[in-house]
Amino acid sequence: MTSWQKLIKKSITRPEELAGDPAVDEEAVRRVCAVYPMRINPYYLELVRRHGAPLLHQALPDIRELDDPEGMVDPLGEEKLSPVPNLVHKYPDRALFLVCSECAMYCRFCTRKRKVGRPEMIISRETIRAGLDYLRRTPQIREVLLSGGDPLMLADDHLEEILAALRAIPSISVIRIGSRIPCTLPMRVTERLAAMLRRYHPLYINTHFNHPAELTPEAVAACGRLADAGIPLGCQTVLLRGVNDDAAVMRELMYRLLAARVKPYYLFQADLTRGTGHFRTSIQCGLAIMRSLIGHVSGMAVPTYALDAPGGGGKIPLTPDYVTERGELLRFTTYRGSTATYPNGRQQEERQAAARATSWHSAKKTFQESS
Ligand SMILES: *Cc1c(COP(=O)(O)O)cnc(C)c1O
Ligand code: SF4
Repeated sequence: MTSWQKLIKKSITRPEELAGDPAVDEEAVRRVCAVYPMRINPYYLELVRRHGAPLLHQALPDIRELDDPEGMVDPLGEEKLSPVPNLVHKYPDRALFLVCSECAMYCRFCTRKRKVGRPEMIISRETIRAGLDYLRRTPQIREVLLSGGDPLMLADDHLEEILAALRAIPSISVIRIGSRIPCTLPMRVTERLAAMLRRYHPLYINTHFNHPAELTPEAVAACGRLADAGIPLGCQTVLLRGVNDDAAVMRELMYRLLAARVKPYYLFQADLTRGTGHFRTSIQCGLAIMRSLIGHVSGMAVPTYALDAPGGGGKIPLTPDYVTERGELLRFTTYRGSTATYPNGRQQEERQAAARATSWHSAKKTFQESS
């Protein structure tokens, strides 16, 4: 067993392991764990001890998970979009392939809470073979996203088998891995793993950090090992009440991600997943946070705020509206709140047409003179 696998083995998974901790309602944890799994590995547990609430909420079962009548079991309609089990084909040119049912920690807000880490999620050599077969016979799929669970929970050689099988499919050009492991168990990102992954380029990894305290020296080093292997890194943060629904926290997170060579990719509005209602914020909250980022931090550090449409419609970008008036003169508010205008009406088109005519005439004249 490798050292990261030993850390996983030492995770807190049973309510009685939390007995006697004054911050924990053991009975509540017991009731939640009967429905949704818990796994807090020693690395993340230490972070929770050091930083408290924003990390604790992500890891510790909460009784409110059992009381969420508005929540939907499968909010993104993934099951009905799965032509074979554990492969979601929603967009024409890319598919989501679930290759592992486990994670290094079970996040309380997980979108796939209905199955991740539960006996319902059966991933076997059979389901992986069926997924690969589907990808082989569906050549319009050019990009495969490996997800789960967390694909980096697989042993190196098992993951490599899957990557090699994907690389043998000529219609697949890009492989993307979604993994929270650089955040939740960075020591799993070994030099050996990075050296294996780099043989399967073009390969991208989107990771998942939700709070600046998660960017420890270990996590930053893990991202560095992947980046040094030539793997472009993105981050898919989830907007979570009580964790990062705060402009200053989010600004710090995005800035520190960029410094760790991770490009913020999406900031997700929380899905309507059953059992996660207590994490959900309003969309106005997310838009206000986006306003506090745009222009105030490097454009490289600004993610796309997006809602994944309930029912499987796909991701919808949500952008604060900077246009305050749409006439012939467009009026905007700048990131600082001052006003800017831009002439965009008929006048502008006429002026452009006149300018095109002038430049044509002068070009013709120059040509006639020189011939
Ligand atoms: C999010 C998602 C993707 C990838 O979407 P991008 O906008 O390309 O990041 C692909 N398939 C499914 C089912 C998804 O949920
Ligand atoms: S790591 Fe991702 S898939 Fe796993 S529990 Fe957390 S959010 Fe869900």
